[in-house]
Amino acid sequence: MIEITNGRIYFYHTMKPELKVLDFICLSAYICPVCKKVLSAYFVGSIIPESFKEYMEQDKMKYAYEMGNTQGAQWIKMRDNSHRETCSWEVVGALSKGINNAVKSFIEIHNIKIKDHQALISAIEQEKMPGFKLVKDEIGTDMPMVIFKENELLDTKGMPFEKKWELLRDLTNTIDSVLKSIGMHN
Ligand SMILES: [Zn+2]
Repeated sequence: MIEITNGRIYFYHTMKPELKVLDFICLSAYICPVCKKVLSAYFVGSIIPESFKEYMEQDKMKYAYEMGNTQGAQWIKMRDNSHRETCSWEVVGALSKGINNAVKSFIEIHNIKIKDHQALISAIEQEKMPGFKLVKDEIGTDMPMVIFKENELLDTKGMPFEKKWELLRDLTNTIDSVLKSIGMHN
């Protein structure tokens, strides 16, 4: 298990008491608000991949992270496809690069043609935009990151199939109409 508490990161195994609890100063960490998994962390310490695996209680988590060292500290990052296997929300853009960058890569990936990027950025920033959630740095030093789930963008319950299809087929239109409906459109 990986746990972030009071500015520290802990690695432990609830079923293996012989495994020493590792405890390091945490410099930055992001936890998915939906699946509660640690998406990334940066800490003062060192754990090698072989020993990292020992602390993962679920087999599929043993290989779910990439890791490395930068400036004397270590980082771990959950692979996007590993997160996708366990969570219905996806990370948008690069971690810890802020909302502007997340929106920029979202627009590129989904080929969105909205004119007013700022409206979408503000709506996400103010946590008013359905389908998008902010993930803040647990330590409060780095910029927030963004996760996205297309099905949450608009409430399609009870909507006729044709209407639903028409909306989801055209993400640009959908985002425009959601921005209008929450009063964020100029
Ligand atoms: Zn998640």
